[in-house]
Amino acid sequence: VSKKISRAALPANVEIVCVGSELLETNVNTHERYIGGRLRDSGLRLSRGTTVPDDESALRGVVREALGRCDALILCGGLGPTFDDVTREAVAAALGRKLVYKPALFSVIKRKLARHRMAIPERNKRQALVIEGARPLANGVGSAPGQVLTLARRGRTPQTIALLPGPFAELSPMFEERLLPALKKTYARGTHVRTEVFRLQGMAESVADEKLAGLTRAPRPGVSYTILAGSGQVDFHVAVVASSAKAAAAELARARAAVMRAVGSHVFGTGAASLESSLGAALTARGWTLAVAESCTGGGIGERLTSVAGSSRYFLGGVIAYANDVKTKLCGVSPATLASAGAVSAECARELAEGVRRATGATLGLAVTGIAGPGGGTAAKPVGLVYLGLAGPGAGEHEERELRLGTGRASIRQRAAAAALGLVLRRARPRA
Ligand code: ATP
Repeated sequence: VSKKISRAALPANVEIVCVGSELLETNVNTHERYIGGRLRDSGLRLSRGTTVPDDESALRGVVREALGRCDALILCGGLGPTFDDVTREAVAAALGRKLVYKPALFSVIKRKLARHRMAIPERNKRQALVIEGARPLANGVGSAPGQVLTLARRGRTPQTIALLPGPFAELSPMFEERLLPALKKTYARGTHVRTEVFRLQGMAESVADEKLAGLTRAPRPGVSYTILAGSGQVDFHVAVVASSAKAAAAELARARAAVMRAVGSHVFGTGAASLESSLGAALTARGWTLAVAESCTGGGIGERLTSVAGSSRYFLGGVIAYANDVKTKLCGVSPATLASAGAVSAECARELAEGVRRATGATLGLAVTGIAGPGGGTAAKPVGLVYLGLAGPGAGEHEERELRLGTGRASIRQRAAAAALGLVLRRARPRA
């Protein structure tokens, strides 16, 4: 789930057009988000992305339209030698410019192919065609050179058009080393960018959205926000563009203070922090250890905990207590509890947590039991009903939670694991 809240006051707008029928049918378009993120980090704005099949006339139309709106246009893909590589031709036609054959470029292409002992088909000459007035961009990896063209605009910054090859390994160095510095110089000179991601757990996206409305409904100049939810957590992105590094830092500090005032009790970390890494830091600081008894998450919590390097300092292990028999034999859940309250109950969660804590000697015992579906739900205990149990740190201390996590087996399991980690984190974290 993703929602753009505001993209206020970023200076220039850049558009991207990705070319390739496969991007509309079988392959995921990954260049768009890569380029969009890198532009944002440089104070530029990807204002629109279009994906077009390998169809010259469709591409020509899209290029004409985009050039009517944007400051810079980046095209990715379709620079190969084959019949379906139509980007050069389409852009030249959209601009009413000729394609010029550059023998020197072809010599470079020939040398590269010869190095790989490849035959050099005549059609590779197409890769040495450059739009009139464009500068070729050397391709250090593959054969197709890129191209960049600047068009003067009266009383405005010039317009830039760049053609980049489709393979990421070829596109990325060209983009990072040649195009991005040039775009930054032309359209974002003297701008300073700071970004931060605040990671929240235990709060629904809609609630976070409401609590953060004070910031997002009336963004300050140069500040933009994005809220993204998934896998049981909410990420709130803040991007600041300012005219000095100091102003950008001050504006970000101001945003940070406002975020913490609004939702601080649910922020478990920033930047690269994950629930499991933040939990690891909190447990380490306390000198506490943790063990888990997992039913419906089937080991998912253990998987997340052990994905953190150094987790052996605080994570002792656990039981995948899926069958009732295992809940009883390995975690000491009483058959009477299973008979009266059932396996999906607060009582069972409590006994699982206490049992695994006892069995391992951990400071904290964490348990999850629920109905992940799609079958097995009843009116009283529907799919998505999950109980968490936490035992410790003191003897006899315990806490249970009831969650309603909607439908979708994978989503329920992921959200249950995230909620369980969040429960332990709130217990282990020093109170603010
Ligand atoms: P080549 O010389 O390899 O033919 P090209 O410039 O013609 O280069 P394409 O054929 O369009 O490049 O793409 C090459 C590969 O890169 C393909 O596998 C394509 O799916 C992939 N690719 C192209 N654009 C994107 C994109 N936007 N996102 C992800 N993959 C992409």
